[in-house]
Amino acid sequence: MIPAAFDYAAPATLDEALRLLRRHRHAKVMAGGQSLLSLMKLRVASPSFIIDLRRIGRLAYVKEDKGAIAVGAMTTHAALAAAALVRRRLPALAQAAEAIGDLQVRNVGTIGGSLAHADPAADYPAVLLACDGVVVVRGPRGTRKVPAGQWFTGLFATALRSGEIVVEVQFPILPAGTRSAYVKMKHPASGFAVVGAAAVVRLGRDGRVADVRLAFTGAASHAFRARAAEEALRGQEPTEAAVRAAMARAPEGVDLLEDLVADAAYRAQLVRVYGARAVLAALG
Ligand SMILES: Cc1cc2nc3c(=O)[nH]c(=O)nc-3n(C[C@H](O)[C@H](O)[C@H](O)COP(=O)(O)OP(=O)(O)OC[C@H]3O[C@@H](n4cnc5c(N)ncnc54)[C@H](O)[C@@H]3O)c2cc1C
Repeated sequence: MIPAAFDYAAPATLDEALRLLRRHRHAKVMAGGQSLLSLMKLRVASPSFIIDLRRIGRLAYVKEDKGAIAVGAMTTHAALAAAALVRRRLPALAQAAEAIGDLQVRNVGTIGGSLAHADPAADYPAVLLACDGVVVVRGPRGTRKVPAGQWFTGLFATALRSGEIVVEVQFPILPAGTRSAYVKMKHPASGFAVVGAAAVVRLGRDGRVADVRLAFTGAASHAFRARAAEEALRGQEPTEAAVRAAMARAPEGVDLLEDLVADAAYRAQLVRVYGARAVLAALG
């Protein structure tokens, strides 16, 4: 299908993009266009004005900054998957980026677009939550930093306010000895996550699990932390049996999605299984 008519601008600076966004009430920013253009072709979205961010080169970077891996919002999935800093310090993020769609999507789609879109089956949200990341947005009232736990507010809904643009995503650098992993069960047709799990694990001097953060995507209206399972695993020996036993609690208190691919009972089982796989992969 063909989208409804719209006006278009490709500003060279973030300030200009913010100014256009303020001036055109029904404008939408476009990053890679990998989600937005499909919605426009289906006429689910019909913005009257598109503000293309792709000329703003200063929004695409991966760097270490004040104890965090700072990722510019316009960084593509492919660039993130290939970034040596990410592969070395936060494998879960590289694994999520390289598990997204296909080569074409990864070469064009961006982390800022993915987190702003907040598809319930997107891969990054689980990693953002498990890593206690921060989404940095710029708007008419300046810059705001939104902690991961406050970013996802519902199905395709986030804490982003009108007139704001995601400019950066920050992932605190994990202390030495803390490991991470992301695993997913791909939807057989779309490749999106039926369930995706991100784990961040640290063993104590006694060899037991001192700290663990576990988050899931694909299973509910938005990504969530599995705090009951985290609690169950803390203090345990990191054996496969202990991990699997703790994961029995991973779906606790979550309203799981039902669709043609998986009903809630099957998704609950996938959450248990992929939660265990993520923790075991992080433990190596
Ligand atoms: C065939 C296919 C397979 C895919 N498979 C997967 C998959 O397996 N896993 C996965 O996670 N994703 C998948 N995706 C989605 C892909 O990751 C997209 O790149 C992503 O959802 C949107 O990023 P984008 O840069 O293309 O954003 P766009 O499509 O340009 O924008 C999406 C939305 O975010 C808003 N937006 C974009 N950037 C910003 C910003 N900086 N600030 C504020 N708002 C912004 C736009 O206004 C729009 O509402 C797939 C997409 C396709 C087409």
